[in-house]
Amino acid sequence: MFEQGDWRVNAACRDQNPDQLFVRGAEQRKARMVCFGCPVRTECLSEALDNKIEFGVWGGMTERERRALLRRRPDVRNWRELLEAARREYVDFDEYQVS
Ligand code: SF4
Repeated sequence: MFEQGDWRVNAACRDQNPDQLFVRGAEQRKARMVCFGCPVRTECLSEALDNKIEFGVWGGMTERERRALLRRRPDVRNWRELLEAARREYVDFDEYQVS
């Protein structure tokens, strides 16, 4: 279960200059590289999607990618729940593969 509000303390970008994530256009694709190893990527992305945050890189997605996702899935009312369920399924699947 997500711990509301405290995920930022584990952010991979915690010590980065915020200006590096809040860049424009193609620079966002470079900026998001830090996200790919971030332990709170799911929390970060769901926060941006649930709150329709339009600016910057969140959860490894650029503004443009998030807008496209929101357009494709207007049915989703709670991204946090959806992404959490997907993560649980992935972990369960991964454990199944190992055993
Ligand atoms: S996913 Fe990216 S923007 Fe979000 S907390 Fe992690 S490093 Fe920062």
